[in-house]
Amino acid sequence: MAKEETVEPWLNDIACSGADPEVFFGGKNMVAFTIAMSMCTRCPVRQECLDWAMTSEDHTARPRHGIFGGLTPAQRDQLPDRTLPL
Ligand code: SF4
Repeated sequence: MAKEETVEPWLNDIACSGADPEVFFGGKNMVAFTIAMSMCTRCPVRQECLDWAMTSEDHTARPRHGIFGGLTPAQRDQLPDRTLPL
């Protein structure tokens, strides 16, 4: 049976499928951070995830939150544009 298509096809290949969201939104919880980063490091769609975050987050209205594309909110704030390679 073929995989079900999503609105964002890359979502079918995420390494964090089924992971506890608290892992990616755990703030300063270092155990959660380490688990999240280990998933992001081996994720085949890391660039797509980062691109999505950089184009979807309205950081002018509220602070960035969570880990996307293997980067923390502070790291994403430092990116000059969303096309930077990882
Ligand atoms: S790069 Fe994005 S999709 Fe991949 S594991 Fe990390 S948070 Fe999940």
